[in-house]
Amino acid sequence: MTPPIAPLQNPEIRIKDPLLEPIVEKVRAGVRITETEGLQLYETNDIWTLCSLADEVRRKWHGDIAYYNINRHINYSNVCALSCKFCDFYRKKDQEGAYEYSIEDIKKEAQGAKESGATEIHIVGGLHPWLPFSYYTDLIRAIREIAPDIHIKAFTAVEIVHLAKISKRGRDGNAGISSVIHDLIDAGLGSLPGGGAEVFDDRVHDEAFRGKIRGQQWMDVHRAAHELGLNSNATMLYGHIESRVERLRHMSLLREEQDRANEDSIEGKFQAIIPLPFIPGVSELSHLPGPGGLENLRTIAIVRLMLDNVPHVKAFWIMQTIQMAQHMLQCGADDIDGTVVWYDITKVSSSSTHQECTVKDLERAIIDAGFTPVERDTLYRKVQRNGTDWSVLD
Ligand code: SF4
Repeated sequence: MTPPIAPLQNPEIRIKDPLLEPIVEKVRAGVRITETEGLQLYETNDIWTLCSLADEVRRKWHGDIAYYNINRHINYSNVCALSCKFCDFYRKKDQEGAYEYSIEDIKKEAQGAKESGATEIHIVGGLHPWLPFSYYTDLIRAIREIAPDIHIKAFTAVEIVHLAKISKRGRDGNAGISSVIHDLIDAGLGSLPGGGAEVFDDRVHDEAFRGKIRGQQWMDVHRAAHELGLNSNATMLYGHIESRVERLRHMSLLREEQDRANEDSIEGKFQAIIPLPFIPGVSELSHLPGPGGLENLRTIAIVRLMLDNVPHVKAFWIMQTIQMAQHMLQCGADDIDGTVVWYDITKVSSSSTHQECTVKDLERAIIDAGFTPVERDTLYRKVQRNGTDWSVLD
């Protein structure tokens, strides 16, 4: 017998799983969903209702716009004091493949970014045990000097805590963190990326990335950045040893922090949430399969529905693939990130680390998915462009 189909509130959505009806009603009424309801969304077979609902919410925020940007990544060094189990990127000093960029190398990268018309340089690296704090401020200043208009988004919360330690401010707690971020802003830092969040759970932390900062410290760094007026993003690395319940807790904690920032009228905010699928590679967790396509779609849709106070959900094409990012645009995502070029973090073991999409490729992917492509800068302002010359519209 065919199961009954619930009465249609929106002809676009045919609710096949009656358990989802109250959730659909809540979301449409603008009522926040709970972690328990998030779990129901993870467990339902009615993926179409889930994705259609996330699409409704995404369209309320952004209509049919889908964002991309023209950016360049600089992974200044893969030498890292830590050895996170899921990480395929880090090397120990003197290990084959270990590298670090000189300031001259950074200048060349900045020149290349400028000549290509990039609006953003995204910088992250390992926790290098010996580079002094001045390396990081010099790095930012060097880019500023060569490309003063390019937005510098740099250093995960994990790196910021490392910088506090190496600049002897590690014992000053949040004051030390604020002081480090202040120095970086002074050098030209424009915002913080969202990396290093992984999954905010002590069990997962102790098993998969012991030694890295815990969730609370990650949040403290982002709060300090927000209080100093910087916007930031937040990631969630999923599909390894964490459970769906732990993912939902991660989403709730981010939602609560954004509420707090709004209530306290703090200038900086989380701009975008970026779910990142675990890619086994040759990491210590390479025996795990990583998340499948449907899990990726579910996760992006649930992130859109849970994080009702964060404007953007990014389908990071370089880890999701362009094809999956297209699907994700129809399931809650509104941004597919940028042209990138040389993204080492997840591709170090492959034959090439050259990861690049042309603007034409990105725009075509967005149009094929049924949306209107809009180039944005790091702060989600629209970009007006004439070749490599650009300006922001608002
Ligand atoms: S994830 Fe980051 S901190 Fe952990 S080993 Fe890799 S580079 Fe180091």
